[in-house]
Amino acid sequence: MKASYVIGNWKLNPATLGDVQALASALTAGTGRCQVGVAPSFVHLSAAKAALSAGIWLGAQDIAHKSTQTGAFTGDVSGAQLADAGAQFVIVGHSERRAYHGESDAVLAQKITHAFASGLSVVFCIGETKDEYQAGKTLDVLAAQLQVVADFASQITADTDGALPKLLIAYEPVWAIGTGLTPTFAEVEAVHRFISETLAAMQVFSPILYGGSVNDTNAETFVKSPLIDGVLVGGASLKADSFARIAAAF
Ligand code: PEP
Repeated sequence: MKASYVIGNWKLNPATLGDVQALASALTAGTGRCQVGVAPSFVHLSAAKAALSAGIWLGAQDIAHKSTQTGAFTGDVSGAQLADAGAQFVIVGHSERRAYHGESDAVLAQKITHAFASGLSVVFCIGETKDEYQAGKTLDVLAAQLQVVADFASQITADTDGALPKLLIAYEPVWAIGTGLTPTFAEVEAVHRFISETLAAMQVFSPILYGGSVNDTNAETFVKSPLIDGVLVGGASLKADSFARIAAAF
């Protein structure tokens, strides 16, 4: 049975520690083939870890670009600090980091280097903007973004049963994030096939998740494809019951 992954990106939510504890303690681990993970903000990692059920993976939403575990990098958080707080993975390359913090491919490569050196897995996000989608440039954009992971091929081995993969790719069309819009099932499948072929040519082994306005109604659609190994969920991961229904679908 092929594993699947349902990962919640809490972004800058929830507002209070009490809300974090309530959300984390209400989550249930996946069943069967589905593995579940969540990524709260830095300041909530330890509290989330304490409240989460065993078996739910904990992740951070960012990591410092410099591979130093301590030092003069105001505002940055190192991989060692993340691991010490209980994180097992980190999201790198989310479109909101690319857009609001100008994170370049070079910076993203540094972040992946740092994460791997710290023993953290990486959820690497890629996706085209609305203009790029409308101009028919999606595959060109994704091919360029995927070049970042090519250099890590020798470090990324095939999944072992039940373990968190070292790398997970999340295809997230920027125009689908938080908008309620999604590509068609056929479009997502075609893109996932392209990503899969591109990764295979690089000798990189990674599950491929879809992200962008996934909810407990449309999750059923994405489950149907053997090319979609799971989902990265933003808004709908903030409601424990919706998130549980998405995980149950996988
Ligand atoms: C995301 O930001 O990773 C995301 C997929 O958000 P949403 O599910 O809210 O579109």
